Amino acid sequence: MSKVIKVKEADAELRSRSFEEVVLGYTEEEALAEAGRCLQCKNPICSSGCPVGVDIKKFIYYITQKDYAAAYQTIREKNNFPAICGRVCPAEYQCRNACVFTKKGSPFASEKAINIHYLERFVADACMKQGTAVTASRPELSGFKVAVVGAGPAGMCCAGELARWGVKVVIFEGLHDTGGVLRYGIPPFRLPREVLDFEINELKKLDVEIIPNFIVGRTRSVKELFAEGFHAVFLGLGAGIPSFLNIPGENLGGVYSANEFLTRVNLMKAYEFPKCHTPVEVGRHVVVIGGGNTAMDAARVALRLQKMSGLEPDTTILYRRTEMEMPARRLEIEHAREEGVKFELLVNPKAFFGDKKGRVTKVRCARCELGAPDVSGRRRPVELAGSEFEMECDVAVEAIGLKANEILTKVTPEIKVDKWGDVVVDSQTMETSLKNVFAGGDIVGGEGTVIEAMGMAKRAARAIIDRLLMERKEERK
Ligand SMILES: Cc1cc2nc3c(=O)[nH]c(=O)nc-3n(C[C@H](O)[C@H](O)[C@H](O)COP(=O)(O)OP(=O)(O)OC[C@H]3O[C@@H](n4cnc5c(N)ncnc54)[C@H](O)[C@@H]3O)c2cc1C
Repeated sequence: MSKVIKVKEADAELRSRSFEEVVLGYTEEEALAEAGRCLQCKNPICSSGCPVGVDIKKFIYYITQKDYAAAYQTIREKNNFPAICGRVCPAEYQCRNACVFTKKGSPFASEKAINIHYLERFVADACMKQGTAVTASRPELSGFKVAVVGAGPAGMCCAGELARWGVKVVIFEGLHDTGGVLRYGIPPFRLPREVLDFEINELKKLDVEIIPNFIVGRTRSVKELFAEGFHAVFLGLGAGIPSFLNIPGENLGGVYSANEFLTRVNLMKAYEFPKCHTPVEVGRHVVVIGGGNTAMDAARVALRLQKMSGLEPDTTILYRRTEMEMPARRLEIEHAREEGVKFELLVNPKAFFGDKKGRVTKVRCARCELGAPDVSGRRRPVELAGSEFEMECDVAVEAIGLKANEILTKVTPEIKVDKWGDVVVDSQTMETSLKNVFAGGDIVGGEGTVIEAMGMAKRAARAIIDRLLMERKEERK
């Protein structure tokens, strides 16, 4: 079997001094060689690993024929944002894990599995450079208006699907900029902003209107949107409220939620202070608590800020289980480590301590071992008696999970939520308990992935389209 084509990455030392992209992507020659490794299985199973069911075999075939436009169209039939997904999808658990080169039942993809995500990115980038995109629209549903709440991947995907049918879509976004977590959470060294901006411009070309600084539930209620003539509403609210450790000292200066820390840096460009007015002082010692993508992003951002301000980098991730249980992508863990982020595993923070000015100076932790599995199926960390120790820290970032933002649902009691505040939907149509209100993405079922959010948004869009087509039929009777 021919050799796996590794993707090139920027040098770890150099890249960790800037916010430039880390993974450099395939050249044409490399993409052709990697695509050439695909067996073009008679009964391909790789697509079953993709939450939106991209026809992987077909698009890879088109690459081998150098027909990149056809490859792009094939991906776009199912995936609205290939340049984004080619960069952030956890392919090792999804498409690559379903590749025939990965052993059945394995938790991660085999090294030998086709690098489907890098091929997707290659095609998307090639077409983005040429300005190729799918703008064709069918006017069948012109005259109908749908409100989309939230400009994250779920909202943007639903908007794109509807606009292609001629529906007038207005996206209402609470923040001053679009993209949701793609802009305020994921740092530009993983997802360059020009890629995100390209996809958002594509939506605008489809005549999707985006209204920022507009919080549905505050600025207007869902009821008022219907009164203004919207035929349906899609909620892509995300999971924007951070969870906290609830330990002593959490209110000290310098203790951030990852959401606030990353938003200051990514959305408000803290790294350009004083040009941008949202400083983040990282200090000499940073600890980041958590083991997910958010923790990796926060740690890699903190380390960059330390290096860029001329400090000796000292950023440590504290995680109460082992690396095996970390929910972060393997690649992000590897990248963090290569760049110099330190890991203290099987460690549980107990309290923060501060100085007279109320700023955090140290964190007390206990060491743990793994016990029996908990409800999540992962082995529970059990603290070891007498194992407490302290670490210096000038900044602590808590990245231990996100919950639903309930601004909208609290004032709309007709929309049923579960005990976590997530919106309850019909899993086929994604319709909520309030007629003509649909939902998808992290607000349904909690923190997930970009492609899962898009999968739900597409299902909701399909159900909205079917309903509007029925209404059109009725109108014509
Ligand atoms: C730091 C971080 C890194 C991640 N890395 C990855 C990764 O590498 N790969 C991956 O697949 N997934 C990753 N994820 C998860 C992924 O980003 C989410 O699953 C995805 O963004 C969910 O999309 P969404 O549209 O549901 O929500 P969001 O992206 O959260 O977007 C929701 C939007 O709705 C807006 N909003 C909320 N309420 C209102 C309201 N009432 N009125 C108006 N607007 C409102 C918010 O401001 C926000 O812009 C990461 C998450 C985080 C936090």
